[in-house]
Amino acid sequence: MRSAVVVGAGVGGLAVAGALARSGWQVTVLERAERVRPEPTAVVLWPNGVRALQALGLGAGLAAIATPLPDGGVRRPDGHWLVQPRPIPADRMPVVVHREDLHDALIAGLGERVELRTGVTVRHVRVEPGERPGVSDGRQTIEADLVVAADGTDSGIRRQLAPESRVVSSGCAAWRAVIPWYQAPRLPDDQPLAGEILGAGYRFVAASLGERGSSGGSSRGGIYWVATAAGAPRPEPPETQLALLRRWYAGWPEPVGALLDATEPADLVQQEVRELRPLPRAYGFPVGPGGVVLLGDAAHAMPPHLGQGACLAFEDAATLASLLREARLPDAVQAYDRVRRPRAATVVRQTRRMSAVLQTRGRLALRARDAALGTINSRLISSAVASAAQWRPPT
Ligand SMILES: Cc1cc2nc3c(=O)[nH]c(=O)nc-3n(C[C@H](O)[C@H](O)[C@H](O)COP(=O)(O)OP(=O)(O)OC[C@H]3O[C@@H](n4cnc5c(N)ncnc54)[C@H](O)[C@@H]3O)c2cc1C
Repeated sequence: MRSAVVVGAGVGGLAVAGALARSGWQVTVLERAERVRPEPTAVVLWPNGVRALQALGLGAGLAAIATPLPDGGVRRPDGHWLVQPRPIPADRMPVVVHREDLHDALIAGLGERVELRTGVTVRHVRVEPGERPGVSDGRQTIEADLVVAADGTDSGIRRQLAPESRVVSSGCAAWRAVIPWYQAPRLPDDQPLAGEILGAGYRFVAASLGERGSSGGSSRGGIYWVATAAGAPRPEPPETQLALLRRWYAGWPEPVGALLDATEPADLVQQEVRELRPLPRAYGFPVGPGGVVLLGDAAHAMPPHLGQGACLAFEDAATLASLLREARLPDAVQAYDRVRRPRAATVVRQTRRMSAVLQTRGRLALRARDAALGTINSRLISSAVASAAQWRPPT
């Protein structure tokens, strides 16, 4: 039986571990945290992410927890529409999912064949020519035919195999929360919830997880919001961070103020936004009869402006599982590299263009951006949406 070690039990690691196990592999997942626990936030999945989860056999589980996310357009902080909301065809509509629901679906997909070991920090990957690949936590080495590095943005395996790729700050921090329905403000019927508001270096996006009072849809319903602001993360406690957010976003169109007021400090998740520059020179490393691959943020951490990080991790997982069904190791590792690098590079390029738009500051630059934003943003988003919609898992 072929064996794999997956390093990291984030969404990428869990997705690929389940897929390999369902194809008959013996899989060990090594996770440094003592408990595998998702953040209490949500994630937007574009059609490529949804299609990848379907290819991984998780489509039914996803359908039960996902809420469609209609296009809410883009507004300025003064309420002026930069991009009007447009109807989106059903096959291009993204969905929003609570991360805890997604995590439950991925864990359910692991089945019996996956051994999940927590509290294990991988410190070294063995890539000696002629030997099977393996990973070590400094005490023991675990060999396998395939090592999947799904150990996130700070991946130690990537640092060892692709040291040219560095983690850098994207120049902004993000705050997210899910306000459960029982605590969520009631919004007037004519007030748009979904959609994006874009200021100078500041951005606010909100979406519904299921419907208030409905037992269907997301099992952890509420209103999800994410705010991005230029600068570093704040060292203050969450209460003070919330107070700062209320000050920064004061005067923005509702429901921004109402959502910030309804958020409990304990529900606030702050994160520095970081990315890889340059991207690794390879995603697949043949080693002896097997190989090592980079997957998810370990391969292509990027800012969340187009909501593609987890989607690409699922694409990686679906592609790898499919290639491993078709080709032997180490050929499948080389094929994975050939397929995934150009794909990730395209999405990262689109995300960087979006970063440049978001980070425009200065009155004249802003005026020029706002004048052009209708075109730039809709063109940018259209091409990102089109490339998301067009992606198909390899057959
Ligand atoms: C503000 C924000 C909003 C986002 N919104 C979206 C969105 O709407 N849509 C979308 O698609 N993406 C979004 N993303 C991106 C998405 O969250 C990530 O791309 C995704 O979670 C990456 O998953 P991963 O499994 O690759 O890595 P991670 O989730 O980082 O998992 C890595 C795992 O590896 C473990 N690990 C690390 N080192 C070791 C080690 N040495 N040994 C063992 N275990 C180790 C870690 O503990 C962790 O559990 C967003 C990101 C941010 C910051």
